Amino acid sequence: MIAGIELGGTKTVVAIGSADGRVIEEFRFPTTLPQETLGVAIEWLRARGQPTSIGIAAFGPIGIVPNRANYGKVLETPKAGWAGFSLVGCLASAFPTAGIILDTDVNAAALAEARIGAGIGLDDVAYITIGTGIGGGILSGGHLIHGALHPEFGHLKVPRMAGDDFPGTCSFHGDCLEGLASGPAIAARWGTPAHELPADHPAWETQAWYLAHGILSLVAIVSPSRVIVGGGVCQAEGLHRKINARLIEIAAGYFPPVLGGDYVVPPALGQQAGICGALLLASSGNEG
Ligand code: ADP
Ligand code: ZN
Repeated sequence: MIAGIELGGTKTVVAIGSADGRVIEEFRFPTTLPQETLGVAIEWLRARGQPTSIGIAAFGPIGIVPNRANYGKVLETPKAGWAGFSLVGCLASAFPTAGIILDTDVNAAALAEARIGAGIGLDDVAYITIGTGIGGGILSGGHLIHGALHPEFGHLKVPRMAGDDFPGTCSFHGDCLEGLASGPAIAARWGTPAHELPADHPAWETQAWYLAHGILSLVAIVSPSRVIVGGGVCQAEGLHRKINARLIEIAAGYFPPVLGGDYVVPPALGQQAGICGALLLASSGNEG
């Protein structure tokens, strides 16, 4: 039995599925306090059997590097009650015989999109989500990148668009990419939530400009074959096209074999990317 848990800031998904990352049965419920949230997932799984392996795709920051003291834990987070909680410890005591693999929600989504979604067949894929925050997961040479912590694409420093003096909304950095281009940043900048802005609003050119600069850094550093951009904000009509156009422009003729009109694409798995990725983490042992 292969199990997956996607732990989000507001909702959690628990599922059992196949080795190729397809959900057989799932249950969605609100994320509350850690013991209670994982308790619901554990009870749901127990009613279905003993998992042989469990993949966890979690909001960050989390300790995902094995052999470190913080491995398996939620690190410093503004989310009340979660800092220091051991996700891996909690599941290991509930299911002592199961293999447990933890990664970030965005790394899991990158894995799922690369194996069964919009990056199928590719070993170098980045997945970016633009929602309440901005996050990015990277599959490079078929392996998920962890690094010393894990990539934090949203907190990249990006150049300022000429004439833009919006201070940004990131509580750490103000005008990092997340502070300038997340859903809350759009709402604060324009006085209207992203989902209410019409497709011809200037907000979308600004949005494409900042996202293209963030993605150009990814292209320069890890050279993905494709960049998949999802999350609530990227449901805006025409946004991927605008990002592609801006990216080609600011690349200024460099990276010619890589960039093209369909370099930045929407996800194929939609809301399912995280949970499918958790199942793939479970079935693969450990991608990293
Ligand atoms: P979370 O990061 O909490 O999972 P989402 O990925 O659902 O959240 O993103 C929420 C953000 O997406 C909100 O800022 C909302 O305004 C924006 N959003 C939702 N639907 C659309 C849409 N169709 N077009 C543009 N923005 C949208
Ligand atoms: Zn930041």
